[in-house]
Amino acid sequence: IRWTEAKGWHDAQLTPYAPLEIDPANMTLHYAQSIFEGLKAYRQPDGSVAVFRPDANARRFQRSARRLAMPELPVETFVEACDLLVNQDKEWVPGVGEESLYLRPFMFAAEVGLGVRPANEYLFMVIASPAGPYFPGGVKPLSVWLSEEYVRAAPGGTGEAKCAGNYAASLMAQAQAAAHGCDQVVWLDAIEHRWVEEMGGMNLYFVYGSGADAKVVTPELTGTLLPGITRESLLSIASDLGYRTGEVRISTEEWREGNADGSITEVFACGTAAVITPVGSVKSNGANWTVGDGQPGEITMRLREKMLAIQSGQAEDVHGWMHRLG
Ligand code: PMP
Repeated sequence: IRWTEAKGWHDAQLTPYAPLEIDPANMTLHYAQSIFEGLKAYRQPDGSVAVFRPDANARRFQRSARRLAMPELPVETFVEACDLLVNQDKEWVPGVGEESLYLRPFMFAAEVGLGVRPANEYLFMVIASPAGPYFPGGVKPLSVWLSEEYVRAAPGGTGEAKCAGNYAASLMAQAQAAAHGCDQVVWLDAIEHRWVEEMGGMNLYFVYGSGADAKVVTPELTGTLLPGITRESLLSIASDLGYRTGEVRISTEEWREGNADGSITEVFACGTAAVITPVGSVKSNGANWTVGDGQPGEITMRLREKMLAIQSGQAEDVHGWMHRLG
């Protein structure tokens, strides 16, 4: 779908996957007016297909567009475009379970020019790709690197938008994490380098205590981390399962000390790709530690199973999150 100042959104097309022809002076290539979303369609037990919370992704897409001075796409148009593609590619949605069809809606400047200003023409597109289970060999806890040198997002910046530039800025730290033998980066705040924010593509959760008394918390939205749809959904699921929940500020010292004295029992990451991933060990310049016993925690796995059961239609969708297609 194309947007121009004169016509607004127009010219919707469903076409076979093919390369785009890009002008060398396309403004996106130079000024990175580019935003995207990620969401999944799951096979349901009755054979139909349902997309998980596309309206929530559509609203986040609108917020990202506003921050990048781009036109907003109506929620219904976003959802309709996803529906159209899923209907077209239905046979690519795998069977019931952890497998899914991953959808990638995105929007970028389509104007050609070399001046730094918001473009006057944009393209919105959706592509799809089948996604296997994230852990084909069983859930494996992540090792994480606390990035004290690089920051992902600063106050007033684009941290809460899902824009391409945020990911470009994160690649050095991801490479540094890999060089330290870690799977993922944990981002800290830009001012004090001590408040835990999120990971490269996932939000974080901390579990205090155990059993029915456990408290399940996640870093609060400060404007510099991405408001994950999985993060938000898990606040509801955790409270449905009877746990106390909270959105808090948590520092690296509190994490390290809470781990040492046993008050923090589990840590996990969450996002559309992996749904829920336990965090098993932490490395930083100052200290390294194993989270709990380094194995997937009981509450982590309980939340993971509940979330997957809702997505695959095996548990009741009490929140009305599954957008069913015919
Ligand atoms: N943080 C970042 C930086 C991400 O890229 C993602 C993935 N979209 C998330 C968190 C998790 O968000 P969601 O649950 O909406 O996938």
